[in-house]
This record gives sequence, C-alpha cells and structure tokens, in this order.
Amino acid sequence: MTKLNGHTELLNGKYHHNGNGNGNGHYYDISIDLMGDEHVAGSIETPMREDAFELSDDAKIAKIEQHFEQIMQTLGLDLTDDSLRGTPRRVAKMYVKEIFKGLNPANKPVPSVFDNKFRYGQMLVEKSINLNSTCEHHFLPIFGKAHVGYVANGAVIGLSKINRIVDYFARRPQVQERLTVQIANELKKVLNTDDVAVVIEAKHMCVSCRGIQDESSTTLTAEYSGIFKNEKRKEEFLAYIGLKI
Ligand SMILES: [Zn+2]
Repeated sequence: MTKLNGHTELLNGKYHHNGNGNGNGHYYDISIDLMGDEHVAGSIETPMREDAFELSDDAKIAKIEQHFEQIMQTLGLDLTDDSLRGTPRRVAKMYVKEIFKGLNPANKPVPSVFDNKFRYGQMLVEKSINLNSTCEHHFLPIFGKAHVGYVANGAVIGLSKINRIVDYFARRPQVQERLTVQIANELKKVLNTDDVAVVIEAKHMCVSCRGIQDESSTTLTAEYSGIFKNEKRKEEFLAYIGLKI
C-alpha cells in the first residue's frame, strides 16, 4: 500500500479518499487525474483503434461538430449568439485538418532522401524547429522547439523534410517523451542510420494555466541513439544547439 499524501492511499489500483470530497468514504478512481498531472507516457506508438480511419475526414468533422456543440450547450453557452454559432464547426475542422492531422498516415510526409557522399561521416544539426503539439492528457497546447542531429550514412534529407517529420508527429494528441522517440525513430528509418539525436524543449499549457500553474518551467526530453550515445558526440551535438545537460 503506497501513501500518496496525508489522506490518499492506493487500494487495489484505486485511490481512496478519507473524509474528503463527498465525505461518505466513497471509493472512486483519481488515477485519471494523477496520470494526467504526472504526464505518464504509455506506449511509443500512439494508441489508435483498428477502425480509426473507417470514417472519412468529412464524417469525422460532422460528428465532432455535434459533440462539441453538446459540450458548449452543457456549459450553458448560447449557441444562437453570432460569435459562438460557428465555433463547433471551426473546432471540428481544426481538430481533423490541422492540430490532429498527424494521426492519419495519409498525411505522413514522403521522405526525399538523396545521396551526398561529400557529407559522409559529418554531423548535421538542425536546431530550433518550430513545434506545436497538444497534450493528450488535457488537450491543451504544447509548444516549443525541436533540435535534431544525425550523422549521414551517405544519405541526407532535405532540411524542410525534417521540419515536416517533426510537424507530422506533433500534430497528434501527444506526450512529449513519445513525440521525441517517434521523431527519432522516423529519422532513423528515413536516413537508414541509427546515428540520430532529438532534443525537445517545450512548454505545456496544462502546466502553466491549470494544475500547478507553473509559468516558467520548460520540459526537456532527449533521445540519443547510435554514436550519439558516445559522450563526446553527445556533447558536440549539445554544444551546437547551445544546451548543456
Ligand atoms: Zn497535460
């Protein structure tokens, strides 16, 4: 049995509040809140259902529009107001076509890799790639920068392609650790090398505007593989991107 704080303890995977909330000793599951606030990452793959793409984008937009309208209605908002009338549709389109479009493999950037023997063995670094994502625990923005390094194995990738790969995996409900690993894995595949490093520095709106309300903190995640596990190479990469870890 794990003591979490003065009045909460773990009981068979559920948490039991003593004398808190409704005061009748009722058992309820607060692990949902805890998981979100601790931003626990589950798997490396984004959890998707088998039938994820049976509905067309247009059908998804129509459904989400209805559901979002229900949320706004439930909050007591007057949807006959001119300013609010179009919001459910706008949100639905934004979810499917913009901020979550990276869920759909059809939107995955097609890699354009070309031979460049001249750069063989050199470290290539692209830093401060703009990153806009969404926390999967709270559906609030995560925003920051991604830094990518690799050692070309005879193949190099167009710089804009790296941005597109970052953007594709960012445009999903995400956990920062998973996003970092997904970008690194895709680059390894596309570049046909293990020598890839990815660092993400990001701010989480769910940390700054709710919960602990910490406005100054930044979350750093890193994935190093191949030669980047070597301390000297790692230091070289971090010096390029101006970070010391
Ligand atoms: Zn969150």
